Amino acid sequence: MRVALRRGSFLLLFLLVVALAGGQDTATPAQDLPGGAQLVAAGVWFLQGDVDKGEANTTVIEMPDYLIVVDGGYPGRAKELLQVLPKLSPKPVKYVFDTHAHGDHAYGNSVWTAAGAETMAFAAVSADMDRWEPGRWKALQQTREDLQASGEQDVERPKKTIDGERLTLEGGNRIVEFLAPGWGHTDGDGYVWLPKDRVLVTGDAAVNGPYSYLADAWIEHWPRVLEAAIQLRPEVVLPGHGPAGGEEILVGQRRFLLDLYRAVEVQIAYRRTPRQMRIVLPPWDKPWTPANLLPDIEDTYAEIVERVPAGSIAHEAK
Ligand SMILES: [Zn+2]
Repeated sequence: MRVALRRGSFLLLFLLVVALAGGQDTATPAQDLPGGAQLVAAGVWFLQGDVDKGEANTTVIEMPDYLIVVDGGYPGRAKELLQVLPKLSPKPVKYVFDTHAHGDHAYGNSVWTAAGAETMAFAAVSADMDRWEPGRWKALQQTREDLQASGEQDVERPKKTIDGERLTLEGGNRIVEFLAPGWGHTDGDGYVWLPKDRVLVTGDAAVNGPYSYLADAWIEHWPRVLEAAIQLRPEVVLPGHGPAGGEEILVGQRRFLLDLYRAVEVQIAYRRTPRQMRIVLPPWDKPWTPANLLPDIEDTYAEIVERVPAGSIAHEAK
């Protein structure tokens, strides 16, 4: 309950800060912006994907002469966004950053390239695509019409690769830092940090709801990366799925992973297999706990008994 109150009050504070901070620019209520966009800071828009369609969230960052898109989505979603963005800002999209290699974030790459943008990601993202694709693309193509309509057989790799763990773009009053703080949700996880605006875009390294996906993760290490993200002291956190919020998203995601890991460890000590495990996580984990926890238990179990990151164990996408 304490957590729920804190989450609620933070959201109110966050909305108040957004309303006050932007002055005239934020006079338009969020729900009236094109595409359901939310203005979370001056020149920073958050577009929440439809979780029922498996869509990821997208963030748009305005620079003096161009826009940066973080997570361009599936091809169909990318086409929708290309219609919406000119209504938010007349500036062209110059860069599209893939936070990681998953299809709901990166499969629209070729749509953005065709529209004149340059896709980019940390080097490990392309490596992940080489490892998982085109298998996942082809599997998903069976059910997704936008992949069928693309006529393509594989995800287009990011055109620009960021070497190292950080890239900074500056322009006008804006600083944009692309950070690769380590293996959490995937080994290619990239965050976008706006230090002046104190806005953190996490990709699926943090989600706001029961959307965690652990199959490609390093579950034991992930909370440490989130701790580093918390140390940035963001005021606004834009997750990969679910609504925007504040630091409580990072805190909650971290705690869910820690509690799950410990619970599975205890059950392993009783020599139970994942299907024999009866795990009830603490109440504060409820917002992050899916209706069926078994896949997460299986991934955590595999990581613990094999003594390597879950994502490094050969597996199919679930
Ligand atoms: Zn993902």
